[in-house]
Amino acid sequence: MVKDAGQETMAAKIIDGKAIAEQIKQEIAAQTNELRQKGIVPGLGFILVGENPASRSYVKSKGKACEQVGFYSMTKELPEQTSQQDLLAWVDRFNRDPAIHGFLVQLPLPAHLDETAIIEAIDPGKDVDCFHPYNVGRLAAGREVFAPCTPAGVVELLLRSGCDPAGQHVVVLGRSAIVGRPLATLLSRKGRGGNATVTLCHSRTADLTRFIRQADILIAALGRAEFVRGDMLKSGAVVIDVGINRVEDRTAAGEKKYRLVGDVHFASAVEVASAITPVPGGVGPMTITMLLKNTLRAARRRLEGEK
Ligand code: NAP
Repeated sequence: MVKDAGQETMAAKIIDGKAIAEQIKQEIAAQTNELRQKGIVPGLGFILVGENPASRSYVKSKGKACEQVGFYSMTKELPEQTSQQDLLAWVDRFNRDPAIHGFLVQLPLPAHLDETAIIEAIDPGKDVDCFHPYNVGRLAAGREVFAPCTPAGVVELLLRSGCDPAGQHVVVLGRSAIVGRPLATLLSRKGRGGNATVTLCHSRTADLTRFIRQADILIAALGRAEFVRGDMLKSGAVVIDVGINRVEDRTAAGEKKYRLVGDVHFASAVEVASAITPVPGGVGPMTITMLLKNTLRAARRRLEGEK
């Protein structure tokens, strides 16, 4: 029987990312208050190039989250045809602005701009997305300053829902530079949120289902709508669905003729898993919250004069 998140007879516990993210935001707001008393208001900046509606909506949500926790935030909007040189000049301005402790250039950028060069121009101490090679290298060396937001959000979600990955076999589906690979690094390192045995799968993995079935914790970050079905899972597995996919739905409410689904087929997986994140309302809210956490850390580092 297909069941939804509201039914009591369901097997798996639903991991409520929205509620966990709210709780962390409250903690950040309290710590922001303490910093304000020491004369520091954490500041998060955004550089938005062009008219991409999804990018605009992401930046808007991030700005709203800043307000919620008492941060200063500032968005620089630039036209679609902005040159590489002009964008680099804005990055430089944000690098030098003392009111901005962390900032990001919202991706993707228009095709004529060189994303790699822009990311590498960001001061690593303000790179709260953790995309700069310096921070990626520090993460790989186990000496991270910032953890990338979505992977850090997944780890936090696991810990706060009582699913410590230590000693567990975690299977990560997807090896992207922003989700799968850093997640495997975080989960396999020594220390809090780590100590897992990690298998990292991708499109060239032979017999993917064999690995999925072995997972105590399965993390799906493929970008393939409802790819993982309940009958692929080990009974009692914890399932974290990072995927956000739009699928056509003519019955959807309002103007939208689509709905959002994850990389996991929720209705079948919920029958087999012991805990599962919904989409939306699972990993998504954690990503922005981790961005706030990194910004708070950047502001603290300024106060403490850390290198
Ligand atoms: P991506 O860069 O497209 O990477 C997808 C990964 O999945 C690649 O490593 C790819 O393998 C692998 N893959 C694709 N199809 C596969 C298949 N059939 N079998 C095995 N592996 C397969 O995507 P991403 O940026 O990591 O994002 C993944 C998903 O997470 C997307 O739905 C995205 O929207 C979502 N996302 C959500 C958040 C959030 O805040 N919740 C944040 C970021 C991303 P290869 O490397 O071999 O090509």
